[in-house]
Amino acid sequence: MGQVLVACQRCGDLLDVVYDWERARPPRSLREFESLWGRRREPACYSGVWRFQRLLPFCSPEEIVTVGEGQTLFQRADAVARYVDVQPGCLFLQYEGMNPSGSFKDNGMSAAFTHARMTGATRAACASTGNTSASLAMYCAMTRLMKAVIFIGSGKISYGKLSQALDYGALTVQLSGDFDDAMARVREISGELGIYLVNSINPFRLEGQKSIMFRVLEALAWDPPDWIVVPGGNLGNSSAFGKAFAELKMLGLVPRVPRLAVINAAGADTLYQLYEQRGMRWNGGHTAMQVADGYFRELDATDQKASTIASAIEINRPVNFRKCLRALETCDGVVRRVTDQEILDAKAQVGAGGVGCEPASAASVAGAKLLRSQGVIAADDRVVCVLTGHQLKDPTATVAYHTTDQDQFNQVLGSRGVRRASYANRAVAVPNDLGEIIKAIRLYS
Ligand SMILES: *Cc1c(COP(=O)(O)O)cnc(C)c1O
Repeated sequence: MGQVLVACQRCGDLLDVVYDWERARPPRSLREFESLWGRRREPACYSGVWRFQRLLPFCSPEEIVTVGEGQTLFQRADAVARYVDVQPGCLFLQYEGMNPSGSFKDNGMSAAFTHARMTGATRAACASTGNTSASLAMYCAMTRLMKAVIFIGSGKISYGKLSQALDYGALTVQLSGDFDDAMARVREISGELGIYLVNSINPFRLEGQKSIMFRVLEALAWDPPDWIVVPGGNLGNSSAFGKAFAELKMLGLVPRVPRLAVINAAGADTLYQLYEQRGMRWNGGHTAMQVADGYFRELDATDQKASTIASAIEINRPVNFRKCLRALETCDGVVRRVTDQEILDAKAQVGAGGVGCEPASAASVAGAKLLRSQGVIAADDRVVCVLTGHQLKDPTATVAYHTTDQDQFNQVLGSRGVRRASYANRAVAVPNDLGEIIKAIRLYS
């Protein structure tokens, strides 16, 4: 058995999954997938990833590992439409927090895990801001096929995510450093020890994450929206979405490709800096990487670390940067950055609609609002915001936003430049007295 590589040994660039579509025999029409609903008692048809296996045909049906990922919600959200300032019926939330481990990562993990098993791996590793490790730990625990080794930066991971990894029995290595440090180490270590790496530098992760777009199209009766808006961290998702649309277009399965908006947090805005400020482009694969290298040298020289309440996108060195540039070209994309204040206000608006998300996810809604205010998104554009993770992943941020305790607010959010909680739903304190309780309920409801 040879080595499992994620990058080219000559140039160091990431590998890409490329299919021989002649042999793979893709569907003639996306409508063909609808008939698979009738076979949902078969695990591969029940899975929101593997239902679309003919569009990610790197394994045989017998090799698939699934735990029922991808059963997610697509919701029209008129209250959020009002907030973003698009017409009613034009804003949709693709809620990936519904996945078994509570984030979109399961889409990619089922594919990477499938490939890991094809290679005969017995251990799998990742560096994580939390959700990748929760997902990997879950797949290992549920399938008993591999042992999970996870690397997290110290003090950076939210309790919701850490508790999952611990509960599911992953070997958890807490590194003094941040995500970018943990990522560099895990690449070294997995090479050294021959451990299968499941971070999104793994191209099979991206294959699984393409299915998020297939489900969006399915929900819209295969009529592509005008915009897909997604938070950008390591840029695996945005890269996967671009690949999905490039392939669908090449196969003649979609009439047009939506535009892609990737949203950075202001405190972790490498993609924004390089794409919007320094004009870097995919340019047919001839990317001027010296521009990026110079930028990273600057970050190092001034010791700048990523910093945002949206811990899932607190990343300054996105590993899929080049693939994301390709996606931005495919989808005529734009990149924006939003502050932690804007993220938390958008998150409160999403939550008020009954679909809670974690801070990073709300960057998509905050970004859509910003693009609308700039006139880039039109009032009658159909916009899909991807909500990447579940609300319960990071209750600390949510409670601090709604709290009446100024110290708690300052400690968690004030230190990040958040000044107000414009949409806070504050608890009402009452003495334990029937009359006072009734008075308070009359007053507030
Ligand atoms: C991983 C993650 C992201 C970032 O996705 P990338 O593919 O790394 O850009 C955003 N939101 C949540 C909740 C995540 O877990």
